[in-house]
Amino acid sequence: MNQPIPEISMVIPVYNEAVHIGHSLLLIEEELKRITFSYEIIVIDDGSKDDTWQQLVLAGDRSAHFTGIRLSRNFGKELALCAGLEHARGQAVIVMDSDLQHPPALLSRMIHLWREDGAEIVECVKFDRGKESLNKSFSSAIFYSVLNTLSGFDLRGASDFKLLDQKVIQAWREMPERNMFFRGMTTWLGYNRVQIPFEVAERAGGKTQWPFSSLLKLAVHAVVSFSSIPLRFVSLFGFAFLLGAIILGIQTLYQKFIGDAVTGFTTVILLLLVVGSVIMISLGIIGEYIASIYNEVKGRPRYLVSQKITSKTAVTEVAY
Ligand code: UDP
Ligand code: MG
Repeated sequence: MNQPIPEISMVIPVYNEAVHIGHSLLLIEEELKRITFSYEIIVIDDGSKDDTWQQLVLAGDRSAHFTGIRLSRNFGKELALCAGLEHARGQAVIVMDSDLQHPPALLSRMIHLWREDGAEIVECVKFDRGKESLNKSFSSAIFYSVLNTLSGFDLRGASDFKLLDQKVIQAWREMPERNMFFRGMTTWLGYNRVQIPFEVAERAGGKTQWPFSSLLKLAVHAVVSFSSIPLRFVSLFGFAFLLGAIILGIQTLYQKFIGDAVTGFTTVILLLLVVGSVIMISLGIIGEYIASIYNEVKGRPRYLVSQKITSKTAVTEVAY
């Protein structure tokens, strides 16, 4: 049965948010109802280990506009988003966190900019990281300055809180990569975009799910999929060391034939250490790219769905 296309699809990834998810979804839906009658809320349970899924089943009983997708394990936020975007049918899709750090009060402005002003992407940009921890703000600052320099995109303050028109989603679906980096991919797409500054609110409950190791993994993914400059560095290092080697070679030969030969033991040791570490780093960089290529070539599914709660509605036609 073909259901009518909703005006707005909400895509919300969740991971271990059982304490507040029921209440957060109520608030989000309440806000949405004031703006449109034609909507769907797609929540992706990214392999939560607590009672999140049970809470989503309850949410599905309460709301006829609700779709729940349970992934077979924790695939990470980027791939959970991907699952949501692939299931979204709306004329516009809004991606948002489940912990109310992305204020639902902004929804009406986002939708207005899309409906009335023809924005194809509305992105909410953090002007204040609000209640985020100092550690998190610091690592984000480093992450974005490195990424900006390497990729040429200005992603400072970028968040995943975005509205995307159906045609942007269509274009996004054409991007086949498995190494997802949603913020970077939507910037790469272009289109007519409008920004709304916002202040990151306090978490609704629970705690952030980004240990330093996950942030680092995301940073490496982001750099590797958006820039080949690190690879060029490797060649530059190579040339710089070749130059040094030529100079030292000439000097050594000169000493062997003309001067006295047994000097420079320290230089040899130092050189070995420096050259060795540069080679290691360079191999590491190349390895990251190869790992990324390997991941793409394997062509595995980006995520696996284990359970679904399907929305029971025939979505009401747009009425505003
Ligand atoms: N999240 C997810 N999978 C993960 C980690 C996080 O789906 O592996 C979700 C999480 O439930 C939340 C959103 O992604 O809705 C943002 O996560 P979090 O609040 O932990 O990140 P922060 O706001 O600190 O950047
Ligand atoms: Mg958060």
